[in-house]
Amino acid sequence: MLTLYARRYDTGEPVEITTEGDRVAEVNPAWPKGDVAEWPFVAPGLFDLQINGHGGVWFSDDALTPEQAATAIRAYLKFGVTRLCPTLITNSFDGLAQGLRAIRAACERDPLVDHMVAGCHLEGPFISSEDGPRGAHPKEHVRPADWDEFARLQEISGDRVRLMTLAPEVPGAIDFIRRAVSSGVVIAIGHTAATPEQIQAAVDAGARLSTHLGNGSHAMVHRHHNYIWEQASEPRLIASLIVDGHHLPASLVRAFVRLKTPRNVILTCDAAGWAGCPPGVYESKLGKSEILDTGKLVVAGQRELLAGSAQETDVCVVKVREFAGVSWRDAIHMASKHPAQLLKCEFPRLKRGGLADLFVFRPGAERLDVSATVVRGEVRFGAM
Ligand SMILES: [Zn+2]
Repeated sequence: MLTLYARRYDTGEPVEITTEGDRVAEVNPAWPKGDVAEWPFVAPGLFDLQINGHGGVWFSDDALTPEQAATAIRAYLKFGVTRLCPTLITNSFDGLAQGLRAIRAACERDPLVDHMVAGCHLEGPFISSEDGPRGAHPKEHVRPADWDEFARLQEISGDRVRLMTLAPEVPGAIDFIRRAVSSGVVIAIGHTAATPEQIQAAVDAGARLSTHLGNGSHAMVHRHHNYIWEQASEPRLIASLIVDGHHLPASLVRAFVRLKTPRNVILTCDAAGWAGCPPGVYESKLGKSEILDTGKLVVAGQRELLAGSAQETDVCVVKVREFAGVSWRDAIHMASKHPAQLLKCEFPRLKRGGLADLFVFRPGAERLDVSATVVRGEVRFGAM
């Protein structure tokens, strides 16, 4: 049993929360001695649909071990994240199989990791091969949609693939979407050069998410007829946005949030395996990357071309408030409730009987200062 005192993230009300087992037992009003503004906030644990690794570990590494996977997943507790989707980008069949096998083993050995892994996200390999839309995904492994290959990977993962990003214009994609959706996998549109008609066909087939809308695209597109407007204006698509301060300008974040409305936006940090590493130059099979002093992750040798994100989810919560002027409630829900709903996972509610996945924080200028993270009623990071 645990007792904590903090202000609710959604109402600002000071409360006393007690837990019993993995559940919230009571939430009662509390009367702080002194200034209530000194109290930290409490919120449901953050949930990120797209995490590529941490501290030098890549989930897409052909040689990933279960120990490395577990360490990289647990690393997110200190940022208030209690659930995430380890993300494997475009790779050979054997590379993807090895990554999924290691994540599965990590889940089977450690109940905390198993709870934190809401499902694996396959980002590719059925994506556009064009420069721009393909982003940093290796061209040699991009291929047409293949249900049989996916089914083998799904089996290797122990049915953990819950989300897949693909490009609707790839041969076989529309049929693939229908089969994947009926098997319970959520389909996202991303790394695409699709026509507006192809986007519509994918949504009609059951695609429900746009992966990092506004990124993974050509530098120049037709001003009216393009895959960004088509997805931004499609009410059946939720948009995930990388709001790390580098991937999208403030005006575009604001425009997307207003167009979609906050309830149809999901924040993701899309952190690279280099997240958590100090500024410097790093090398993987995808090439040399550099973390600048500003936290921006770029292709080494210049300062503009991004090579992924080196920020974690809590940074996006702070930035979306700054860029789009949303409330704490909306900002937290974009990084907790909305992804949970999309993947049909339980959303931890701050009320009696709710899942006790919580975190306690104070807002900082650049990120959240997390003092404790609780998973299923147990303190897994920091202290009360
Ligand atoms: Zn991507």
